[in-house]
Formats: sequence, structure tokens, C-alpha cells
Amino acid sequence: MDCCAETNKLISLEQAIEKILLAATPLQDIEHVALTEAAGRITAQPVISPINVPPFANSAMDGYAVRMADVASGKALPVAGKAFAGIPFHGEWPAGSCIRIMTGAPVPTGADAVIMQEQADITDDGVIFNHPLKIGQNIRLPGEDIQQNESVLSAGLKLGAAQLPLLASLGVANVAVVRRLKVALFSTGDELQPIGQPLSEGQIYDTNRFAVRLMLEQLGCDIIDLGIIRDDTEALKAAFKEADSRADIVISSGGVSVGEADYTKMILDELGEISFWKLAMKPGKPFAFGKLKNSWFCGLPGNPVSAAVTFYQLVQPLLAKLSGHSQWQPPRRLKVRTADALRKAPGRLDFQRGIVSQADEGELVVHTTGHQGSHVFSSISEGNCFIVLERERGNVEAGEWVTVEPFNTLLGS
Ligand code: AMP
Ligand code: MG
Repeated sequence: MDCCAETNKLISLEQAIEKILLAATPLQDIEHVALTEAAGRITAQPVISPINVPPFANSAMDGYAVRMADVASGKALPVAGKAFAGIPFHGEWPAGSCIRIMTGAPVPTGADAVIMQEQADITDDGVIFNHPLKIGQNIRLPGEDIQQNESVLSAGLKLGAAQLPLLASLGVANVAVVRRLKVALFSTGDELQPIGQPLSEGQIYDTNRFAVRLMLEQLGCDIIDLGIIRDDTEALKAAFKEADSRADIVISSGGVSVGEADYTKMILDELGEISFWKLAMKPGKPFAFGKLKNSWFCGLPGNPVSAAVTFYQLVQPLLAKLSGHSQWQPPRRLKVRTADALRKAPGRLDFQRGIVSQADEGELVVHTTGHQGSHVFSSISEGNCFIVLERERGNVEAGEWVTVEPFNTLLGS
């Protein structure tokens, strides 16, 4: 067959992502969860601060609270009382005296400056201040950091260690988040065996369900694992039906390659509207996407590297959109030099696996992980990035600039 006619029928990764994101609509269901349960969840609404931060005027230093009018060079002010963090001063504060104050302590009413203790001379008659003063110095004002009713987090944000302590500092005990996505998952293939079972002739272990499951867990999905489904029309139909009735999205692997797509297509045609794409990417050429009766459907290719790469490149943005994670960012890409020559045929966007590291001179450099077959999962386990080679590019010489995409936490680095 003419190579270029074949190539022209392929759809680009960007087109595929665009079609997927255009079709998908985010979940609208909101639930309120305790802050301690909120890690990994997506904010459903902006979070509004119920208080001012700081809530009261407090001292930024250990030192002395004064009324500036009382302070004159060389004049000793007796100490009339003490204010500690959590223990305010409420006593009588005579004119011409000062209050000992510690960092974080409420500033006594009437004080208009705090003088740091390093600028105070303690004498028998009291404390002498010889440094110039500025009104309000060393006093943190209420609401200086965050104002009451101010929005502190936007909607569509993933909550983690950078956000939740902020909410804790505001005393926010519950947060409105989008319900977790329910994802049903199964592998297809007569040759597949679950881990923990011996292999008979012609069998291989089911890698894909494991890979996809782990990535789904990290994305905070509720997982419905339907196991391995045999290449049998009735069994597949039953699996698709059950998955569709229980989940927001169904993810299968296998059965979408040239030899098997017609068969799967026949089954799915009865259950929904599914497109079988030939993607202009490598690995991961066959991919199916569409809508079943109740849920979205993604059919990953069977080869483990292809399944992982298509999940990462296509399903990850889909899940972000469905789960309301509107602030999700695609993995960052960098330009680095390759230390190795890379084999590449023009026509498809390659996601080769590489190891990016810092050379002695400080710049980044990438090495290939070696064998790039779509069944070689060790290329992912040894790698820490994709080497993204443009669709029309051919072989790459050592020393050329290439684009790399460091794996995000889904692939564990
Ligand atoms: P298929 O897309 O079903 O034609 O499968 C393509 C290749 O991937 C075949 O060599 C399958 O044996 C292999 N394969 C399919 N599913 C899995 C799986 N879950 N784990 C490991 N290999 C698989
Ligand atoms: Mg198969």
C-alpha cells in the first residue's frame, strides 16, 4: 500500500484531543468533604475566606509596644505589662510606659509602633529607645495577608499540600469538591492471565489493567475493576453493558487493532456511538473514543506501552475535563540535546522513551532507553521522559535538539 495515502488517513494527536475535549462535559455533582479528606479532590467552587488573616493586629517582632508620643531620645519608659502570643495584655497602661511584647502577640490598644528588642537599652528606670520610629512599624495589620470574604482558591483546582494548609489557616473545616469520577476498567484478550496465576502456553500477564488502575488511583478516581474479558461477543457485550451502567467512563484495552476492531465495533455499534481512530502517533496508533448509553468510552490499544502512552496523552486530559479539573496543565515540554542518535520514520508523532539528566556543564541532555517496541514496558520503567519527535521528522543524529516531556507523577517521577 502507498505509505502516504495510509499516512493521510491518520488523525493527529492534537485533533484527537480536541475532539475528545469538545465532546466531554464536566461532572456537575458537588459534595462537601472534611479538609482531612480533601487531598487530591477538585474544588467545585471558589473558596472564600471566612476571616481576616491575620485576624487581629499583632507584633512582627519580640520587643516593646509603645505610644509613639511617649518616646523621646534618652527617655526611659517603665514596662507596664506583657503581651504574649495567645495571651493579650488587658491591664492598665499608664502614659509614659511601654509594654513588653512577643512575636504574634496582640498589639495592645493604643500602641502605634513596636520597637524590636535589639533597638532597646534596658536600664533600672525603664527601657530607652534611641532609634528613629515610623508609625505602625513592626505591627501586622488585620487582613494584611487575606481579607475576609476574599476568594483564596479558584474552582477547578486540585487540592494538595500547597492548598490545604492555607484553608486550615483560615479555619475552613469543609470544602466543596466535585464528586469523584467513577471509572470502569477491563482488559480484553483470550491470552491474558491475571498476576498470581501460572502461565499456560500462549498466555501473557495482563499488564494494562494494572498500569491503568495505578494511574486512575493517582487521579483520584473511584475504580470499578471488571477484570479480564475473553474475546467472546456475549462476554464483551455483557462487560460493556455492566461497565456503562455503573460508571461515568469505561476504559478497555485491546481489541481495537486492525485485526480485532471490526469485531469490537460490531459489539459497540449496538451500545453507543464510537469512533475507531488511527492516530498519527507512535506508539498508540489504534484508539477508540465515544459515548455509550450513560458513559464515555476509551478503547486503548493492547500493547502495554501503547496503552500507557494513549492513556497518558489522551485519557488524562479527558479525565481532567470530566472531573472538573479545569486548572489541569498538560505535561511541560523542554528542548534538550540528545546524546544518542534516534531512529524515526516520518509520518507519525513519536513518543520515544528517554532518560533526561543534567550534564556536568549544567545543561539538560537526553539518552534513549534503547528498544522502543510498543510491547517493551521496561522502556517506561527505565525512562523518566518522552522524547517527542515531530510527525514529519526522520532519523535524529546525536547532538540534535529534541523536545522532551518529563513524566509527571502518573508515571512516577
Ligand atoms: P490487541 O490490541 O488486542 O490486538 O493486542 C495487541 C497486543 O497487545 C497483543 O500482542 C496482545 O497480546 C497484547 N495485549 C493486549 N492486551 C494486553 C494486556 N492487557 N496486557 C499485556 N499485553 C496485552
Ligand atoms: Mg486482543
